[in-house]
Amino acid sequence: MKKNRDIYDYIIVGAGIAGLYASLQIPEDKRALIIAKDKPWESNSFYAQGGISVARDNNDVELHIQDTLVAGAYSGDREAISVMVSHGVEVVNRLIDMGLQFDRDRDGELLYTKEGAHSTARILHLGGDATGRYMHSFFLNRNRHEILDDTSVVDILVDGESAHGVSIYKDGEMRNLYCRNLILASGGIGDIYKLNTNARSISGEIHGIAIEKGLPLQDMEMLQFHPTVVVMKDNETSLLSEAIRGEGATIVDEDGERFLFQYDERGELASRDIVSRAILNHKKRAYLSISHFEKEWFQKRFPTISKFLEGRGFKLTEDLIPISPAFHYSVGGIETDNNGLVKGYKNLYAIGEVASTGVHGANRLASNSLLEAIVFGDLAIKHSLSNEEPFEVREYPLIERELYKDGDDEVKKELQNLMWIYASIERRGETLQKALQRVREMMVMDIGRSLKLQLLTASEILSSAIKNRESKGVHFRVDV
Ligand SMILES: Cc1cc2nc3c(=O)[nH]c(=O)nc-3n(C[C@H](O)[C@H](O)[C@H](O)COP(=O)(O)OP(=O)(O)OC[C@H]3O[C@@H](n4cnc5c(N)ncnc54)[C@H](O)[C@@H]3O)c2cc1C
Repeated sequence: MKKNRDIYDYIIVGAGIAGLYASLQIPEDKRALIIAKDKPWESNSFYAQGGISVARDNNDVELHIQDTLVAGAYSGDREAISVMVSHGVEVVNRLIDMGLQFDRDRDGELLYTKEGAHSTARILHLGGDATGRYMHSFFLNRNRHEILDDTSVVDILVDGESAHGVSIYKDGEMRNLYCRNLILASGGIGDIYKLNTNARSISGEIHGIAIEKGLPLQDMEMLQFHPTVVVMKDNETSLLSEAIRGEGATIVDEDGERFLFQYDERGELASRDIVSRAILNHKKRAYLSISHFEKEWFQKRFPTISKFLEGRGFKLTEDLIPISPAFHYSVGGIETDNNGLVKGYKNLYAIGEVASTGVHGANRLASNSLLEAIVFGDLAIKHSLSNEEPFEVREYPLIERELYKDGDDEVKKELQNLMWIYASIERRGETLQKALQRVREMMVMDIGRSLKLQLLTASEILSSAIKNRESKGVHFRVDV
C-alpha cells in the first residue's frame, strides 16, 4: 500500500528554469516535489548565456510577436505567441520586483542587447553572458519545496485523461510516487546528438515515455542547430553566444572573407538555420572573429566565454576561433494548450523545452525559450490551482526494469552519430529512412530502458522528418 509521504499535490519532473519557476508559484501549504536526474544545476537552463527576450514597451509587443512569427517561418501559433509576449512583460517585471538583477548601465537603466532575427534590442541579460546561471541560482535559492536529485523518472503513471504520478529510479531502486498534478519540465533531447551544446542530463527520455503512453507530440523534426560552437578535440563543445554577433563579431572563412553575405543579406544576423547551412555548404573552415572588440570590454561583457576560451589557450580578440554548428534546441515536443496543459489531459502539464506550445513554429527566435519556460510555467500553476477536478489516488504496480545495461554505450554512440549525420542541418528522405530502419533494429537489442527511450525519441524525430517533405525553418529537405 502506498504511504501518504509518497503522495504530493505536485510532482515536477525537472529542475531547470521551467520547473523551478513553476515551483515558486506553488503555495507553500501545497506539497510539491521537484525531481532532477542529476544535480539541480545540471540543466540547459544553467548554461543559457545570451539572455531572455522581452518586449520593451507596449509598442514593441506587436513587433516581438511579428519577429517570432517571421523566425518561425510563419508556422507559429499566433495566439500562443501573443500570450507569451504579452504575459512575458508581466512575468519579467515580477522577476525584477523579486530582486533579480538584470545587467544595467551606469545610470541604472536596463541594458538590452540584440540577437539574430530580432528587429530591435530586447534581450535582457545577467552577469554579461551568464543569464541562465544567475536566473537558475536565483530561483533555486528561493525554492521552498522538496528536491530529489540524482533521480531518474523512468515512467509516468497516466490513465485516460488523468496523470497519477511517476516511477523513479534512485540508488538502484524503483519506486512509485503519486500526485494530484504532474508537470513535465524535463528539457530537450541533446544527448541523442554527437555534437550538441546541451547539459549532460538532457537526454530526451521523457519524450520517449510520452511516445510509449500515446501523449500528443508535434513538430519533433524541428530541431535547431546553433552555428557558433567551439568544438575541442574530445568533442567537448562550448557555445559562443549569438549575443557576440549581436554586439558586432563577424564570421569569416580561412581566407578571411565574411562569406555569410553570399547566403543572406543579413550576414551574421541571419537566423541560426541560415547561418548553420551557410557554414555547412561553404566548404571552407569557419571562424568567429572578435578582433575589433577591446579585450577588456569583451572580458567584461562575456566573462564566462572569455574564461572558457582563455582556459583553452585562445588569445582573446587576437585569435580567430574555429566554429561548427551543433545541435542546440528542440523546437517541438509534447503538445500543450496555452495553459501548458497536455492536450487530452486534465492534470498533466508540460512546460519549457519539453513542451510544444506552438510559439516557435518552424524555428525559435533567439532568447525566446527562457521567456516561454517562465510564462507557461506560470500559467500552468495558475490553471492547476483553479482546477476543481476531484483527485483519485490510483495505485500502479512496480515494474522492475534495468535502466542501463552493459554495451549501451556503444549502441548510444552509434545512435548519436546516426542522428548527427542523417537528421541534422540538411536531410534526405532516403537516408532518413535508412537511419530509421537502423534505429528500429537497435530498439530490439538487449539494451537498458534509458537507451530504449532515447531510441524511441530518435525514431519519432526521424519519422516526422520523413513525413514532412516541405523545407521550412530548421527542417531542410535537400531531396524535395
Ligand atoms: C548552452 C546553451 C545556451 C542557451 N542560451 C539561451 C539563451 O541565452 N536564452 C534562451 O532563451 N535560451 C537559451 N538556451 C535554451 C534554454 O536554456 C533552454 O531551452 C531552457 O533553459 C530549457 O529549460 P527547461 O527548464 O525546460 O529545461 P532544462 O533547463 O534543460 O532542465 C531540464 C531538467 O529536467 C531534468 N530531467 C531530464 N530528464 C529527466 C528524467 N528522466 N528524470 C528526472 N529529471 C530529468 C534535468 O535533470 C533538468 O533538471 C540555451 C541552451 C543552451 C544549451
